[in-house]
Amino acid sequence: MAYNDQNIFAKILRGDIPCDKVYENDYALAFRDIAPQTPVHVLVIPKGPYVSYVEFSEQASDAELAGFMRAVGAVAAELGIAEAGSRILSNQGEDGNQEVPHFHLHMLAGKNLGRMIKPIDE
Ligand code: 5GP
Repeated sequence: MAYNDQNIFAKILRGDIPCDKVYENDYALAFRDIAPQTPVHVLVIPKGPYVSYVEFSEQASDAELAGFMRAVGAVAAELGIAEAGSRILSNQGEDGNQEVPHFHLHMLAGKNLGRMIKPIDE
């Protein structure tokens, strides 16, 4: 999928709309989700124009990959969630019900999160 720079996270990166920033480095920005689903719900996004985790993995430079991965650890330290634990996930495309087409990790924490996903009746 072609990257569309009118998505909401691109606007946050440009500073066109505000965010509740938790952490930033040269390659990544982390901010609180506007509609948190757990007591702690932070989104970590790369600064580059990637739609999905797969695209990021395939196309990002080594520096971007490293900077992004380091940001995840820094966010966990900043939030104090490393010891109690968390869940980190990324929704991809249609089947993953991805809403914002700029790659992001959800960092969910602050309570016991139960099993990974709900079984789906088909
Ligand atoms: P997705 O379904 O794409 O994995 O998740 C998108 C997430 O972005 C949702 O959890 C939603 O609440 C969050 N979100 C959507 N718009 C905004 C916004 O303007 N600001 C912030 N901080 N989060 C947003």
